[in-house]
Amino acid sequence: MKLIISEKEIAAKRIASILAGNGVKDEKVYGVPVHSFKRADGDYKVIGLKGHILKVDYPGEYANWFKVEPTELIDAKIEKIPIQKKIIRALKKVAEEADEFIIATDYDREGELIGYDALQLASEKNSRAESKRVKFSAITARDIDEAFSKIGKIDLNLAFAGRARQDIDLIWGATLTRFMSLATYQLRDKFLSVGRVQTPTLAIIVERELEIKSFIPTPYWVVKLSLKTGSGEEFEAIHKKKRFLKNEEAAGIYKKLGDRGTVSGVVERIKDVKPPPPFNTTALIMSGSVLGFGASRTINIAENLYMNGYISYPRTDNTVYPSSIDLKEITSMLGKSDQYRKMAGEVLSQEKITPTRGRKKTTDHPPIYPTSLVEKSRLKSDEWKLYDLVVRRFISTLLPSSKMKSITATINVDGELFTANGSNMVEDNWTKFYPYYKHKDVYIPDLKEKQELSVTGKELQDKETKPPGRYTQGKLVEKMEELGLGTKATRHTIIQVLVNRGYVKNNPPQPTEKAIAVIKMLKKHAEKISSPDMTSELEMYMDGIVSGEETREEVVEKSRSMLKEVMVVLNKEKEEISAEVRKGIKEDQVVGKCVRENCKGDLIVRVARASKKRFVGCNAYPECKQTFSLPQKGLLVTTEDQCKHCEYPMVKIINKGRRPWDLCVNHDCPGKDEKYKNFGNKQGSPKTNSKS
Ligand SMILES: [Zn+2]
Ligand SMILES: [Zn+2]
Repeated sequence: MKLIISEKEIAAKRIASILAGNGVKDEKVYGVPVHSFKRADGDYKVIGLKGHILKVDYPGEYANWFKVEPTELIDAKIEKIPIQKKIIRALKKVAEEADEFIIATDYDREGELIGYDALQLASEKNSRAESKRVKFSAITARDIDEAFSKIGKIDLNLAFAGRARQDIDLIWGATLTRFMSLATYQLRDKFLSVGRVQTPTLAIIVERELEIKSFIPTPYWVVKLSLKTGSGEEFEAIHKKKRFLKNEEAAGIYKKLGDRGTVSGVVERIKDVKPPPPFNTTALIMSGSVLGFGASRTINIAENLYMNGYISYPRTDNTVYPSSIDLKEITSMLGKSDQYRKMAGEVLSQEKITPTRGRKKTTDHPPIYPTSLVEKSRLKSDEWKLYDLVVRRFISTLLPSSKMKSITATINVDGELFTANGSNMVEDNWTKFYPYYKHKDVYIPDLKEKQELSVTGKELQDKETKPPGRYTQGKLVEKMEELGLGTKATRHTIIQVLVNRGYVKNNPPQPTEKAIAVIKMLKKHAEKISSPDMTSELEMYMDGIVSGEETREEVVEKSRSMLKEVMVVLNKEKEEISAEVRKGIKEDQVVGKCVRENCKGDLIVRVARASKKRFVGCNAYPECKQTFSLPQKGLLVTTEDQCKHCEYPMVKIINKGRRPWDLCVNHDCPGKDEKYKNFGNKQGSPKTNSKS
């Protein structure tokens, strides 16, 4: 029997049905689904894992934070520990009768490691079986059949690069997190997490926030005109200088403007609006932001679409279609639906299809493209939105540029020059099928040189420069890629980690005071941890393992010596670090302004001396005795938000493995239904389930 091991159960099921046709028998081994079937070359079984089934961790004797110096963790032994015990048991059981193992996990660093771990476990029960590897980028009949006709071996270098990543993240994360938490007395739920990728990413968010906070707006003035042609067409123009930094100068010009103007020049240009490059992971996440999805949401939906065979593998850096993809065939397939018939027709009517190409080319996976046609009614609404986006992006990359006409007219009014800009799409190609391309036509009338115009209105506008905006999740992922932080497989998860750790809130992500304090302090005392350089250097070494230039041991060792240098500095300046961070944490304890009439105090999170329970109290105590109880479990993050029902302050409660819970501190809030009112007692949170 040949045992196929896939990354997830849903992929296992699909692979079985593709290879077997109809004759799949489903059974359960220790509660885990196993799919069996026969083919001409023998019996097969397929089992699905749940991603990683092992994790790395330190042996038990390192578990006590108070007995082990954080720096001891750097050289401590690392063990592999089962995290999916049921699946491991089932895997070992079915492995007993196999004479061949076929790894069919996702083809990348993480997938190779998952496959390698599974092979190690399976071989414990059966060392005679041969091991093989199939690689594919889409779970469709065509790709799976092709993969099984070109069966190969597992790529140890790729798996070891994944293992190095696991080791390094554990060593850095555990050492730095313990050091920071102990130095600042932030323990248990409140621990201060520091990591190799998450901390430089947080630094990007914090730096932008500080830029926004310290921004001083510069005032400026704009002189604007409303104009009319002889035939009554109206339009607007602004003074050629655009921004006046002195009010008097703008006002002087404004005053002397009369009610007649002359067109002194018209320039028309036709501009190509090029279609976008094929989708890779980062570009997909950016576009997902436009649909209102956070980075993790986009990737989770995309992964689901991939497992079901609707789109190709969504973790890819590639932006160039390989020649093995039949672009025409996919377009024809899409054209079979009413929804996409017209756009597919337009692609196929071209004499030659020239797809766009982006800057990055890799050979592991193609860019993300639709692999089969699915009806809207078969998908959930969010899944459909993302699928439709992938289809439209694919079609767009195969269509010619659109053409836009831009017109710039110069108008002379009493010796002052004004400009009016118009633009409109004169040839709408890919742009008419891709609603995510934002353009608004601005019409100005057909103007001729020396044409006379009447001035129907003038305006002196007061304006000021604006601070830069916060990074959206999509922008942040793009920035991480640019700086070499994380990989296509991990970037989107980092943002979620920062939310769960109480470092960022809201969307677009905004740092908490604690985050600002941690980053400011690290920049001052250990710049290396908050800057992207060291992390991107390590990512480069890990790529070196894949290409065989470095070994896993060498790279992990290099990372150890980097961390040792950092720890020397941190240990030396421990006290200053502690004081600064604790100040930031204190500021995070402000929930909002006191709600009692005439009280000017702040509501803050306090801990009762006797019961050790946390609650909200007014800092004008004892004059003001306003208090509110709080849930005792979970990390509490203060917000600037007010309840939309009663305008009392809102807080966020973050429990591991659950969605953050937004809570109004007012027990009698009209927005709360009965079961939510008693959060203060044993229950912890209203969504408590039996597990915790
Ligand atoms: Zn008060
Ligand atoms: Zn309320």
